[in-house]
Amino acid sequence: MSHETGVFSHPDHDGHESVVFHADPASGLRAIIAIHDRALGPAAGGCRIHPYPDGMTALADALRLSRGMSYKNALAGLPLGGGKAVIIADPRTDKTEAKMRAFGRAVEGLAGRYVTGEDVGCAVADMDAVKRETAHVMGASDAEGDPSTHTARGVFLCMERAVQARLGRSLDGVHVAIKGAGNVGFALARMLHERGTRLTVAEPRDDIRARAVAELGAAVAGPDDIVTAGADVFAPCALGGDLTAEAVAAMRCAIVCGAANNQLAEPRVDGLLRDRGVLYCPDYLVNAGGIVAIGRTVAGWTEDQALAAIERLPETLDRVLADAAASAAPTGQVADALARARMQGGAA
Ligand code: NAD
Repeated sequence: MSHETGVFSHPDHDGHESVVFHADPASGLRAIIAIHDRALGPAAGGCRIHPYPDGMTALADALRLSRGMSYKNALAGLPLGGGKAVIIADPRTDKTEAKMRAFGRAVEGLAGRYVTGEDVGCAVADMDAVKRETAHVMGASDAEGDPSTHTARGVFLCMERAVQARLGRSLDGVHVAIKGAGNVGFALARMLHERGTRLTVAEPRDDIRARAVAELGAAVAGPDDIVTAGADVFAPCALGGDLTAEAVAAMRCAIVCGAANNQLAEPRVDGLLRDRGVLYCPDYLVNAGGIVAIGRTVAGWTEDQALAAIERLPETLDRVLADAAASAAPTGQVADALARARMQGGAA
């Protein structure tokens, strides 16, 4: 029996086209760029800056996130493939202009096969630094800018559709529990508040929590209690992995619909959610608004085309829900199959 623990036998390796490791001793950059698939176009996906405990954890994240980008871009109808970069650093203490520029040179070395953008730990200013070294970047301040409100808009529209489908009502008076009120989570909370939605928020930052209470009348829960807060909808908007088998067993909501990438802690949780009668709105489907907004230039779309594509995300969700109902398959699995069919040029 093989005891290889290398990249090709990595559990998250999914036929990725290439995985590149970059080190720049001068700036201290350590980055991994994973290109999953380019069947539909250049591999596009953001750059996550995170203090990963080790390189293998960072690699796993890059592999998973880049595959998710292939699926996300395909389902959003973008002519883009999937890729993702991770930088091993603490974005609060260990992010420098030199490091971002070294990362920009790494992206430039891929000659347009990968186009980068913002993800957790990055700000628009970081994309400006990257842009000093490469044109293969989305979301710089002189271009598309911050994607967060577009992401929130897509999640909001899909949540509205899911609530209608599962609860047969509008968002007015529905109780939504948001984990992580950052750029996307807070924008989503604001949109929901305007629709008369009741909010509970879990957020470690005191200043944001206080704003959510003061401006949006939100109730507050702890990060570990939010999943069992008794809301109708759970919206994971912090980091991934919130949907564990234990969390699903304890949850009381009817719907999961949020912005975080990689919400399922392991693939089988998709089926556990179905068995529990929880409608899971696949993360990469509902959170595609951001990549549509910043990827439109690479895709050759006008701003109007991008905004229209975001408004159409609930139609794709409808299709997934209908296929899932017809086949009794979990929604995540159905979305994956639809994305793969689009990547292979099959029926949309
Ligand atoms: P952000 O860093 O602005 O917000 C994340 C928030 O979660 C922060 O306020 C942080 O304090 C909070 N948080 C961290 N740990 C938490 C915990 N244990 N419990 C509760 N809150 C916690 O990031 P963002 O841009 O809002 O992105 C949020 C998620 O959405 C990420 O998973 C990201 O990958 C995903 N996403 C973002 C975009 C986008 O346009 N920004 C697009 C697609 C997907």
